[in-house]
Amino acid sequence: MDNYQPLDSVEDVEEFYSAIERDKLTHKLSPERPYCYWTIETYDKRNGIRGGGGLGVLAADMRRVAEQLSVPFVLVTPFYPWESHQKMQDMKQTDFHTEQHYEDYGFNFVDNIHIKTETTAVELSVIEKKLGSTRFLCVTEPNFGELYSGESGSDHRLYQEVALGFGGYQALKLVGLRPAVIQLNEVATFFAAVARLDELVSSGMDFYEAVVYTRKHTLYTNHTLVQAAEARFNYRQFEQYVFPNIKSVAVKRWLSDKFTNGSIQLSTPTVEIAELRSGVSKLHARVANYHDINGAKIKFKSVTNGIHMRTWVLPEIMDYYYEHEILDKFDLPPAETLSEKVEVMSAEDIRHLKLAGRRKLNEILSHRTDQYGNSIQIPEDAMLFDFKRRFVDYKRPWLPFDNPHKLAEILEKYNAHYILAGRVHLGDKRMFEKLMGVLRTIDNNPILKERVHYLPDYDEELGLGLSLGANSSINTPIVGLEACGTSWMKDIANLGILISTHDGGVADMPSDNYLTISGRNEGEECAELYRQMEVAAQAWQNDFDLEYWIHKELVAYLDIISGSRMMKDYLNYLF
Ligand SMILES: *Cc1c(COP(=O)(O)O)cnc(C)c1O
Repeated sequence: MDNYQPLDSVEDVEEFYSAIERDKLTHKLSPERPYCYWTIETYDKRNGIRGGGGLGVLAADMRRVAEQLSVPFVLVTPFYPWESHQKMQDMKQTDFHTEQHYEDYGFNFVDNIHIKTETTAVELSVIEKKLGSTRFLCVTEPNFGELYSGESGSDHRLYQEVALGFGGYQALKLVGLRPAVIQLNEVATFFAAVARLDELVSSGMDFYEAVVYTRKHTLYTNHTLVQAAEARFNYRQFEQYVFPNIKSVAVKRWLSDKFTNGSIQLSTPTVEIAELRSGVSKLHARVANYHDINGAKIKFKSVTNGIHMRTWVLPEIMDYYYEHEILDKFDLPPAETLSEKVEVMSAEDIRHLKLAGRRKLNEILSHRTDQYGNSIQIPEDAMLFDFKRRFVDYKRPWLPFDNPHKLAEILEKYNAHYILAGRVHLGDKRMFEKLMGVLRTIDNNPILKERVHYLPDYDEELGLGLSLGANSSINTPIVGLEACGTSWMKDIANLGILISTHDGGVADMPSDNYLTISGRNEGEECAELYRQMEVAAQAWQNDFDLEYWIHKELVAYLDIISGSRMMKDYLNYLF
């Protein structure tokens, strides 16, 4: 779905900028001085880059929204020459790797640059791809490896981060750009800010002035909750990989001072070099527990993630939104009248649109396989629940299997299927064992075996397909641990009924806007989950209830979901 239709007239662009009450923005952002977004992960397979999860999807959606709204924008990110995949056959998982060539995705080679280590220089290729007002600017080399290869505090990770920061900054110069602002998508991109600081100081600016200048123009976006979980690097690693790339003695000294007991966490200098700091939902911005080097708690502004709606929502549904003025040409819902506009959406409309989504899902499913190696189809008259996530502990993919008999009873009673799509991190043995336990539970119960399907190698295509084709999605993070999450946004925008714990971006609004799971312990939450699955299944059998829940979700969340709202919030914060 590549129908971005960027704003084509100067008037449209001016109107969007004035919609955010910053008519002078046109002077601050220009093609030569763009909004520069640094990220170690991008999830945009259409453009050749596969990510790991939400962090990468967000980066890709930021660029797509910028393109749609004609915002001058550069996404600085690595092009990984290798990509990992997972396959299941006979209940065994195999990992395999595919080689990626940037030429196949329309990237152009710009030139080679070098970054230094203590003993040698590493040559990096700079490649770019322009799309409307935006471009991908990537660094790559044959030994760059995969996304997140190696341990998080390893030499190779540090090398990748240094290559992205210092190399990416050189790449920007190479193509003749100066950043209006730098957004650091998590601390792995910290060295971009160091490269800028170093450039200012080594071209003659007073060190403190350079720090003030860099701080004012740098936004650090945090997606993590606890600083303690962040990797540490030691001084020796910095001597090998980082310091050789810094010209200014003052900058080196500044960075050296950020070590405590011989090691450093990148968030410590990041919060010093970025005056602007954001978290990715209201709850997350409030609870992210970060401290500066003096022990003072860091305050984060909340800019809740959004999604690029034209990528993630069924075109028929987008047309419906436009026709009924539920979204305007910027993909923003009307501030005052949204509930009136949504009111016209009938159960018949909802069912009709969902059927189109189901057909699209079945198309996608026809070239995927389940845990038995079979391709599956979900009957058009069956109800579909889905759970699609990276398999990490806090998201609790096993929770709905806590009582297999109850689950089977619900699925049978409502002629429902359940798709579980996921991806276990490479080398996460514990999680893999948990997944195997779930698969055995399914295998041992004839009803579950018929109605529950596990789809490995969860990716964008499955994420999209399930949002389009499922009637109700299940989201069960342990409350307090999801920073935002965006797959629930795809589900609501595609007219699904959300069943969720009150966490992440879902908690931006009160819990009576969706089918909430609460409870004092996992047992209670689980009972609540089964109860809400029945509420959702009954709602799909009853026009009044279906309209009630779909209307309620859209009125509450459409503005939050809109990626244009997110872009507006960032532009307002930055300028
Ligand atoms: C949307 C999407 C995500 C985001 O997932 P959350 O668990 O909601 O953060 C991750 N991976 C893929 C492939 C997606 O499409």
